[in-house]
Amino acid sequence: MTPAAASASAAPTTTSQPHATGTSASTAVGAAPRWRTPLRDPALPAGHHERLLAIEERVLSGVRLDADDGLFLMRTPALHRVGRLANWVREKRHGERAYFVVNRHLNPTNFCVYDCKFCAFYRRANDPTGYRMSLEDVRRVVRDEFERELTEVHIVGGIDPKLPYSYFIDLLRVIKEERPDLHLKAWTMIEIEWFARISKKSIEEVLDDLLAAGLGSCPGGGVEVLSDRVHAALFPDKLSPAQWLDTARRVQRHGVRMNATMLYGHIETDEELVAHMVAVRALQDETKGFMTFIPLAFHPAHTELAHLPGPTGLLDLRTIAVSRLLLDNIEHIKTYWVMQGLGVAQVALRFGADDIDGTVVEEKITHDAGATTPFGVTQGELVRLIREAGRAPYQRDTTCSRATPV
Ligand code: SF4
Repeated sequence: MTPAAASASAAPTTTSQPHATGTSASTAVGAAPRWRTPLRDPALPAGHHERLLAIEERVLSGVRLDADDGLFLMRTPALHRVGRLANWVREKRHGERAYFVVNRHLNPTNFCVYDCKFCAFYRRANDPTGYRMSLEDVRRVVRDEFERELTEVHIVGGIDPKLPYSYFIDLLRVIKEERPDLHLKAWTMIEIEWFARISKKSIEEVLDDLLAAGLGSCPGGGVEVLSDRVHAALFPDKLSPAQWLDTARRVQRHGVRMNATMLYGHIETDEELVAHMVAVRALQDETKGFMTFIPLAFHPAHTELAHLPGPTGLLDLRTIAVSRLLLDNIEHIKTYWVMQGLGVAQVALRFGADDIDGTVVEEKITHDAGATTPFGVTQGELVRLIREAGRAPYQRDTTCSRATPV
């Protein structure tokens, strides 16, 4: 990403530009934190120190930041100030706790009718590298490969036109027959809407079928960036931003909790990322059904956007911090180590993130796009990484209704 405009004035510009540097927040007040010394970075652009002080004051007073604050925080070079403020919010909510889940991924098919330009996972019909798990395959994997300590399965896949509606319902049923203890976090809004189309049922009727089969909650993927421009450029056939928000609203109103993601580091602008966060926040004001917000770092390899450099560690940390500061109504901010890397994830636990996802096991989607992170980590490794970051590891369930110190 292009470095921030070094000569920027205190106010963010209104022109679109790729990411530079910055953050923002909101929470209730306590005593002024000890770090609130009037330390001024000598090289900060004119006005940035004052603007940061004003934002810090608002966050400490529990005043919600607006999109303009968010844009400033996305661009100010004072990333450490942004991170420190986000860390204050994070510690106020969660103290030293860093949550993780013992989970694994299941991607039942990589055939897909869509061809999102940022995706290296999908295969067209007849592609010899495509795969489709039968229900018996799924049953065998659950029986033979699912560890006893597992508490969650994260299930997403391609939009495979050869699979009937009943497959997606039965897949949940099969897993539950084998392992009734598992929480099934399954199917994005893209898949839920596809199920409604192929079954000719309403979203609510589809959810009733899924819930009866064992659905526990929904993951947050498929939204990418809530921008009509990016949608038209990268994934025009998939749900539009308005359609994604409407589907998410209906899912949450039907009592199903879910996450929200945000794919960054491709062609989006700072304004579009901030608008995405503000739109998710507005829906959360309405529904209160989002559990966690998860910035996802784009991996360009083997995609149609392979010419792009992808996000840097700087942008990884900035999106974590700014999302913690803007999303004052979402309890958890996750650093998804598969995409951000284990090293960045450790630092992110001090830049606003309170959750490091989980053991994962068998991650395919990001690794098809060239991720060099492991396919999974053991619980012991996660605990070690969290402790090394100076945090206290807590194993949680999917909804974070239970969390136990490790
Ligand atoms: S991102 Fe999902 S919907 Fe888009 S092509 Fe990849 S698998 Fe298909």
